[in-house]
Amino acid sequence: MSGSAADRRIRSLRPPKPKVDPYKAHGSVIDEERRPGATIERALTVFLAGAECPFTCSFCDLWQWTIDGATPNGALVRQLEDVLGTLGEPSPDRLKLYNASNFFDRRAVPIADHAAIAALAAPFTGITVESHARGIGPDVVDFARRLNGRLEVAIGLETVHADAMAHLNKRLDFDRFDRAADDLAAHDIDLRVFVLLGTPYVRAEESVEWTMRSVEYALARGAAVVSIIPVRGGNGELERLASLGHFTSPTLTELESALDQCLFLGPGVVTADCWDAERLAACDTCRPARLQRLRRLNVSGRSEPRVACAECAS
Ligand code: SF4
Ligand SMILES: [Zn+2]
Repeated sequence: MSGSAADRRIRSLRPPKPKVDPYKAHGSVIDEERRPGATIERALTVFLAGAECPFTCSFCDLWQWTIDGATPNGALVRQLEDVLGTLGEPSPDRLKLYNASNFFDRRAVPIADHAAIAALAAPFTGITVESHARGIGPDVVDFARRLNGRLEVAIGLETVHADAMAHLNKRLDFDRFDRAADDLAAHDIDLRVFVLLGTPYVRAEESVEWTMRSVEYALARGAAVVSIIPVRGGNGELERLASLGHFTSPTLTELESALDQCLFLGPGVVTADCWDAERLAACDTCRPARLQRLRRLNVSGRSEPRVACAECAS
């Protein structure tokens, strides 16, 4: 096991990794997504199986969807062909290729596969991939040129809380993020940003406030879309941090507060990531209605009164 002492500790605390087939995407979903200018797109997200990310962020749970070793040449192409082969009508507008790592890490996405992936993506007007800010470079520009549609790169800013960022083990500083944002803009590539809610080393009572500040920072650097992601426990390291008082799981009420306060920031679109949000601490009686409201807000961008619940008196 290589890497820093923090890398080794974080990896050692992980639960066993499920077996992942490098020739089978582990899921796909079609959602409606709001874009700047109040347009609504149908977006197909394909969750690709490939090599693990070389970073070892303290909050990350994506490694469980990755294989041991490098992604074999052609494997992602086969995964994508299989998913696209099952698509019905109408065709989605956007293709999001999420590989639980960094798309521009050549070990995760072989450069030899870029042309075939771009060809499969030709019917889509927008293509989103994810990358660490440090992965933004010439390969991104080359890939964008191969595409028929417009490229968007999703980057984790996570937080602008400097002390918390230093503890994330993400190896990201804000200058680096800014340079990545500038590079993408200079090449007319869109930026999507992930911002955390419940970041370790941010005090629970300041959690929503720091999420808002991070969203504002991302929007000021040109993000077309900012997605607020509640930190999900279960990777071992977060449980260690919780036992030391450095991590408190975010609640559904906090996610609602964060989105309510960020919904009208602009010019980019701000949404709440509701994937697995059923796990967030909340009142059992009103949780489903609260999640439905968040999903509506994500698409409409219009404010709605909070759900009233006699059970939890909120
Ligand atoms: S850079 Fe992204 S995929 Fe890699 S460890 Fe960090 S959060 Fe996980
Ligand atoms: Zn309730």
